[in-house]
Amino acid sequence: MSSVLSSVGAIDVIGVQDGASFVSPGIFGAPDLDSHRALIGDDGRLELPISAFVVRARGITALIDAGLGDRTVEWRPAGEGPQKLTGGRLPTALAEAGVTSDDIDVVLLTHLHLDHNGWVWHDDAPTFPNATVRFGAADWDALVEGNEGESAHMMRALADLGRVQPIDVDGEVLPGISALATPGHTPDTRCTCSPRVASAP
Ligand SMILES: [Zn+2]
Repeated sequence: MSSVLSSVGAIDVIGVQDGASFVSPGIFGAPDLDSHRALIGDDGRLELPISAFVVRARGITALIDAGLGDRTVEWRPAGEGPQKLTGGRLPTALAEAGVTSDDIDVVLLTHLHLDHNGWVWHDDAPTFPNATVRFGAADWDALVEGNEGESAHMMRALADLGRVQPIDVDGEVLPGISALATPGHTPDTRCTCSPRVASAP
């Protein structure tokens, strides 16, 4: 499923969905869910979409986040029930939006967790063959260096091909769109925003 979320000036944003997370509210601490009851399933777990966004800005096509990939991840943290993330639909969602893998010029990763970069690498090759992959530089040091997880392996494979370009200063990364450091969830989580949208009345 996809839909055009907004079209502001020369920037179009299309939401696409790779899959969904089925997780206990407790893994987020003690969230106030009173106004989000619709997100809670019969088993008490939150069902949250694993989303990505296609952004078209002045002839450049970017993908913000890259889903979980064609995989399912399950785990059971101490004191909680089973947790599950499942992905795999992003290529179909992109096709439904009229976007091919070749069309993507830039992949902007908000952070380097597997449910955000899962599709950067597939079948021993970059999923988006023409794309430079960008992310907060400090996430590389914290989550890729010395890490043997799938996310780290994929990022190193991209780097070996010269396809990564870390972001180490706040500023414009696409025409009219900036990536700002918002550390917390990871050391260098990046929030993307359009100053023009933010300043619109
Ligand atoms: Zn994360």
